[in-house]
Amino acid sequence: MNQLTVWSGLTTIGCNIMTLHDQESRLIMDFGMANDQLEGRNYHSKIAGLIAEDKLPGIPYLYNEEDLEDSNLAANTSTPFSQEAVFISHLHLDHMQGLKYLPDRYQVYMTEASYQLYQNLIAIGDEFPIAAQVIPVPYNQSLSIGKYMVKFIPTDHDIPGSSAIYISHDHTHVLYSGDFRFTGFTSDRMENLIKEKLPIDILLCEGTAFSFDEEVGEGDNGDRLQSEHELLVKTQALFSQRDQAIVINPYPRNLDRLMALNEMSLRVKRPIAWDKNFAYLLHEFTQDPVYSWDPAADSYSQVVEFNQRNHYAYQIAYQDIDQLDHIGPGLYLHMNGEPLGDFDPRYQTFLDQIASHGYDLVNMGVSGHANKEDLVYFASEMQADITIPWHSFHPKRLASALEQLGLTTFVPEIGAVYDIEAPLD
Ligand SMILES: [Zn+2]
Ligand SMILES: [Zn+2]
Repeated sequence: MNQLTVWSGLTTIGCNIMTLHDQESRLIMDFGMANDQLEGRNYHSKIAGLIAEDKLPGIPYLYNEEDLEDSNLAANTSTPFSQEAVFISHLHLDHMQGLKYLPDRYQVYMTEASYQLYQNLIAIGDEFPIAAQVIPVPYNQSLSIGKYMVKFIPTDHDIPGSSAIYISHDHTHVLYSGDFRFTGFTSDRMENLIKEKLPIDILLCEGTAFSFDEEVGEGDNGDRLQSEHELLVKTQALFSQRDQAIVINPYPRNLDRLMALNEMSLRVKRPIAWDKNFAYLLHEFTQDPVYSWDPAADSYSQVVEFNQRNHYAYQIAYQDIDQLDHIGPGLYLHMNGEPLGDFDPRYQTFLDQIASHGYDLVNMGVSGHANKEDLVYFASEMQADITIPWHSFHPKRLASALEQLGLTTFVPEIGAVYDIEAPLD
């Protein structure tokens, strides 16, 4: 017996959670949340409220009984599984924000690079230690949980440690793609995964790009960039002009981009001065010199002044936006930092603030997700018996694109239990 259940993330971008179990063991794949703010009444506990508001999945035997309110779930807290483990594909919030609500009996496995990033995010206060035990695993090393064999396979995404997760059980094999793209600095990882020609009964494939009528990365003024390399080249050209102040706003967890930008800025002799958190992360991940505009960062970086706008570029996160007063006017390169787009209620205020400080906004974002063509290419090359599209507003659009190529797809019901040793229906 090997049974699969999808608990969330079928028609949302992220927060995709599934379990696989047999009589003895259960695996939980990813444990993300969109947000963990309660909207409703006084619940029995925070966990009970988050489950009631569909922010945490109502998975049986997962939570401690005293945290639960729903009588059905509460009656089911004595687990029949002798072995259980949680696997995290990468450290974006939509894949791991729920970890802090896991009971302490769980082991949480993630790649070594994810683990290193996690420890450093805790050090800067961007994450907090959790009750469950977090265990780093090297890429491609098989781990057994009961009859299950699990390994993390490296992928190209916009965060260190990103992975697809391959799960074998007797003669059935499941690949969970995680989030991926072919346009980062490590796109060869995707080609290597394809070349492995792993036997796959079920592929759970992200479908972010099929959420939108336009391609991911388009939108706004259609001026998003196609790849990390293009971002680097265009940023270097702007840095080299030196006639105006430049401020950048990237996302702190995209360390490959931060390291590439830092290295480029040193090479063109216009170093980026980072805030203390970014400077800390860079100091931990690279041997290159790191500059900061924050005197609090002086133990791990070289602190510089704001008044040398032609000699330095500056990284300013949204919470520090008033610092623009000390630098500008100039160019504001928006590189997937917060607030990311107009779905964020802070976005219009942000645009007004940029303009009032005298900055021209340049959208220099690159998507962390494969475009539609690359998604279809990946899923068709993987040659799974069945592909389950998820992590998309419109999983059926990816399904029909694949069906047209002769692939078999399946869109499961949330919470339904499927025996994957038999045909799915
Ligand atoms: Zn995601
Ligand atoms: Zn992601």
